[in-house]
Formats: sequence, C-alpha cells, structure tokens
Amino acid sequence: MIETNLQEIRSRIAAAARRAGRSPEDITLIAVSKFQDVLLVEEAIAAGQRDFGENRVQEAQGKWPPLLERHAGLTLHCLGALQSNKAADAVALFHTIHSVDRPKIAAALAREMTAQGLRRPCFIQVNTGEEPQKAGIPPRDAPAFIRHCREELGLPVEGLMCVPPVDANAALHFAFLADLARTQGLPHLSMGMTADFETAVEMGATHIRIGTAIFGARRAP
Ligand SMILES: *Cc1c(COP(=O)(O)O)cnc(C)c1O
Repeated sequence: MIETNLQEIRSRIAAAARRAGRSPEDITLIAVSKFQDVLLVEEAIAAGQRDFGENRVQEAQGKWPPLLERHAGLTLHCLGALQSNKAADAVALFHTIHSVDRPKIAAALAREMTAQGLRRPCFIQVNTGEEPQKAGIPPRDAPAFIRHCREELGLPVEGLMCVPPVDANAALHFAFLADLARTQGLPHLSMGMTADFETAVEMGATHIRIGTAIFGARRAP
C-alpha cells in the first residue's frame, strides 16, 4: 500500500519535472510521518524511502532514535515551528531544519550548532500568505532576516520554505517564493504538499513534503 503510494507519487513528480524541463533527481521527496505509526514508517523505509519529516521535536524524539539506529542513510527533516528551548534537541536529532522563522529561534539554532559541532542545513520559512496564525517571517522582512541569519549568525541557510493558505492559488505563493530565493541566491525550495506538489515541482521545488498521499489520514494528535 505505502509502496504503491510512493511509486505513484514518484512517477507524478517525474512527470511534473519533465513538463518543467527539470530532472526528477533534483527533487527530494520528504515523507511526512507526523502522527503516523512507526510500523508505517518501517514500511516506507522498506519501500526505499530515505527522507522523512516530522513537525514536533517531542514526537520525533520518541519515534526516531531507534529507527535511525536500525537504518543507515536516513535523513530527518524538521518541518514544524520550534520553541527556542527545543533548539538543542532539534539540532541533535534533525539533519535539516525547514522552519527557521524568527530571530530568536535562528540565534538559538546557531548557538546550538556551534556548541554541538554540527552544521544543519536550514530553510527560512516565509509566511507568504501573511496569515496571523501561521509561522513564518513576513515577506517584507524576509530579505533582512535571511541576511541576518547568514551573515551575523553564520547559519547554513540553503533555501526557503512556505505553506500557502489552504484556499489560495498555491502557484502564486510558489512563484513568489521561487523569485525570492533567486534574488537571495538560495538554491533550495521546500514547497508542495499532498494537494499541490505537482504545481510546486513545476515551479521549482527541490524538496516536497508529503504526508497524507503516502501514509493516509493522520491519527488525531
Ligand atoms: C503536515 C505537513 C505536511 C504534509 O501535509 P500533507 O497534506 O499530509 O501532505 C507538509 N508540510 C508541513 C509543514 C506539514 O506540517
């Protein structure tokens, strides 16, 4: 079941990449396993999936250390909003952080990477829809924040991330993010979920984050 889902998503990614004149190898599929059972994660690993995403440090800490020990070559992506008191745990566990969204958390992550001697590639999350309830730096503040993260904090910023508003035309948000990444000289774009990943691929996504289409509906948190 999960294997079939993964195969189908991979072929849809490849088709969308071809339509855009891109190479499918340039797109990393992140399987978002938040609220999903470890057995389903094992099934995805058995089907060849290597990149996984979680939203909450605490859930990931309970789930991932044994999986990472059992399976070499997995990459774990942090997708959810971080509290600065969780920065140390996040840097220790996650290989990549997609949710750097404010100065306080950026500073805490930079401090922890130095303290732990680890460099974790970072994405800056941009609140492209300027939704008050959503994480992310407002678009107008993004250039200065990106500069601050790179130059003053020395964070390894590699790209931008966004979650468009539910009822929005996602393509407009993806185009905006792609444009901003280009002007900022950032090579990676984390965008596209179950509902809109093909559009994201056509617009330049390098990392797409898919939960439901791989694992089915999530358990209640
Ligand atoms: C849950 C989540 C996803 C996956 O969403 P689906 O619609 O299930 O594919 C992707 N990105 C983030 C940030 C999420 O929180």
